Amino acid sequence: MRIAIIGAGAAGLAAAYDLAAEGHEVVVYESGAVVGGLAAGFTDPAWEWSLEKFYHHWFYTDRDILGLIDEIGKGDKVRFYSPRTSLWHENGIYPLDAPVVKNATLSRTVNVLRLPDLSLIDKIRFGLVGVLLKMYANGLSLEKYTADEWLPRWTGKSAHEMIWRPLLIGKFGPLYDQVNMAWMWARAYKRTAQLGTYVGGFQAMLDDLAEAVTNRGGVIALDSPVEQIVPGQAGGLDIEVNGRREHFDRVMCTTAPNALLKLVPDLPEDYARKVGALRSLGSLALILALDRQLMADGTYWLNLPARSPVKQENPFPFLALVEHTNYLSKEHYGGDHIVYLGDYLPVDHEHFQMSEEELSQRFLASLKQVNPDFSPDWIRKQWLFRAPYSQPVPFVNHSQNIPDIHTPIGGLYFVSMSQVYPWDRGTNYAVELARRAARMMIEEGSEK
Ligand SMILES: Cc1cc2nc3c(=O)[nH]c(=O)nc-3n(C[C@H](O)[C@H](O)[C@H](O)COP(=O)(O)OP(=O)(O)OC[C@H]3O[C@@H](n4cnc5c(N)ncnc54)[C@H](O)[C@@H]3O)c2cc1C
Repeated sequence: MRIAIIGAGAAGLAAAYDLAAEGHEVVVYESGAVVGGLAAGFTDPAWEWSLEKFYHHWFYTDRDILGLIDEIGKGDKVRFYSPRTSLWHENGIYPLDAPVVKNATLSRTVNVLRLPDLSLIDKIRFGLVGVLLKMYANGLSLEKYTADEWLPRWTGKSAHEMIWRPLLIGKFGPLYDQVNMAWMWARAYKRTAQLGTYVGGFQAMLDDLAEAVTNRGGVIALDSPVEQIVPGQAGGLDIEVNGRREHFDRVMCTTAPNALLKLVPDLPEDYARKVGALRSLGSLALILALDRQLMADGTYWLNLPARSPVKQENPFPFLALVEHTNYLSKEHYGGDHIVYLGDYLPVDHEHFQMSEEELSQRFLASLKQVNPDFSPDWIRKQWLFRAPYSQPVPFVNHSQNIPDIHTPIGGLYFVSMSQVYPWDRGTNYAVELARRAARMMIEEGSEK
């Protein structure tokens, strides 16, 4: 078969790798200048490694992506470390995942016992619910509850308001009380304290995967935005790209849902309605290259308290403070200390429109809370990245609202982060879903 894949992110590349292995003629069209999509990186002349535009790591449980890396013969490039994850409460940093003993769950339990402003009963309930969620295998059954109603019932109101609700508000803003509990369960279930990366950064992994695709005969066309997909007159599908019309037997589209709606004007109404009903948030990351360490206790990931969806009402105007070089050595970045100030936002939020200068003024002012000595003079260089489609929002009973990988248009398959469920979107699940879609294509192709 002649197969077009739209998008050279983790999903598109994984599907191309499998389809090319079966001898199909595969062309991957990517609108950007590099492969990688949301997991792509960038470089600076002073650095040896690339850096992800948005912080990325793997969990030990990310079997699909780690398995694929093994298959392309690059398993020796994966590195796992146990960095410190912490929580900001009132005016201080409290460790959550700092290793106290070898067992990660036990370490977290010991750390929870040190949290202030929670009674011993609250701490025990919080710890127990964490352990139970990790052991419970049928978390999908929790999708009929919102996390914001289920969690306080089991962990107690205080622990919920201090720990869980701020995380929900931070990640989903005004939609925080509509997110279902299966999504929250999935995070607890799959999360590991050890976090993985790739020698050279995620971009190096995606480049290696792209090379594996081309070694199998696949073609990757960069700077090639697809403009339209229409059913061909004699079967198959025609796509418009680079001012030309190309014919394919099958097409896999890995774009955002709203992009699919624009690309395929003939999408039948029922399916288009389902795709159009999917909700998501955008994300932004202001990245600083500092000449010294910001969080001297070694925290990699600092969860910040989002008490209100209105940013100005919170002590920090963003969700996460991530000191990347408290996880990976600064030697990979020419001695720079790399810090991300990251957030998830509806795309109509003012932070999506503000200039980099306005936004950094607003963000940087809050860093003195974490380190009173912080001064903007510490910044050697900074970058700002924004992505409109970043975090799908799983509402109650979401499993019934996920569009099928098969669209109703013959030969057209749709694979996106919004169909990853109940797991939180990630490169692991992009690979799993895309390889599943590729298998369907192969099986359906051989039935014909
Ligand atoms: C802030 C943030 C943090 C994250 N953290 C992690 C993490 O720690 N670990 C992890 O594993 N994952 C993480 N993820 C998620 C991960 O990046 C995504 O799940 C994954 O990259 C999705 O891959 P994809 O191929 O489905 O989509 P994408 O990466 O979005 O790829 C789609 C591609 O399609 C291209 N495209 C779109 N329209 C067209 C068109 N018309 N024509 C041609 N090409 C087109 C785009 O340019 C893009 O390259 C994070 C994401 C964000 C935003």
